[in-house]
Amino acid sequence: MKEDILGVNVNTENYDALIPQLFRNIDDKKKSLIVAINPEKLMKAKEDPELKALLNRAEFQIPDGIGVIIASKLKKGNITARVTGVDMMDRIVREAARTGHAIYLYGAKPGVADKAAQKLKDTYPALIVAGTQDGYEPDSEKVIQTINKAQPAILFVAMGSPKQEQWIEQYRDRLHPTLFQGVGGSFDVLAGNVKRAPAVFQRVGAEWLYRLLKEPSRLKRQMTLPKFLIKVLTQK
Ligand code: UDP
Repeated sequence: MKEDILGVNVNTENYDALIPQLFRNIDDKKKSLIVAINPEKLMKAKEDPELKALLNRAEFQIPDGIGVIIASKLKKGNITARVTGVDMMDRIVREAARTGHAIYLYGAKPGVADKAAQKLKDTYPALIVAGTQDGYEPDSEKVIQTINKAQPAILFVAMGSPKQEQWIEQYRDRLHPTLFQGVGGSFDVLAGNVKRAPAVFQRVGAEWLYRLLKEPSRLKRQMTLPKFLIKVLTQK
């Protein structure tokens, strides 16, 4: 099920409902792309029809930002909980380890994807990591060949948005993996280079507050949220 938020269709399901759909697609050899949706991306997409179309062409749009949940509530919609990019990735990796599907990590600075892969294998010993590649190789042909040779079923791309989504769209027909997710800075988080907010902030959906307290310069970026909510309320 999907719900329109500022012209972008967003999935309403939670992790438990999404995981079987994703893995059914893998088994049916049906390619799918997961993009994470937050207010910043929606505001960008409003000004950029190309980006909006790209987001809508993805098979899955997960409600990553708390602003998306508030927007759905304001519109009496059905999205009740966040599905974050980093947690979605963790659920996919857990299921991949259980079912024997190999994953590949592409993106972030040299060494980071390796470290992230090691952390994932520590958590899920049965996990098959087909390979890793940093996000600064300019020759995409080389990257495609390397990935295809490694034969992963699932490809995580961490090069920031919308770069990662554009890269996946451009090459997905030639890439052998069947499930693609753009995961932004998740490899840095997994590798331990960037800390997530303490659990209590995560639980009440206030990771934004934690980040603001640590980095007051983010205020300008975070002013997107009220502007976004006004747009949602005045839309129709
Ligand atoms: N990155 C990359 N290649 C590039 C540009 C960026 O691999 O050409 C990586 C960068 O090292 C970082 C991630 O992409 O790991 C960007 O994360 P960010 O948190 O900025 O993305 P967001 O989640 O905000 O889209």
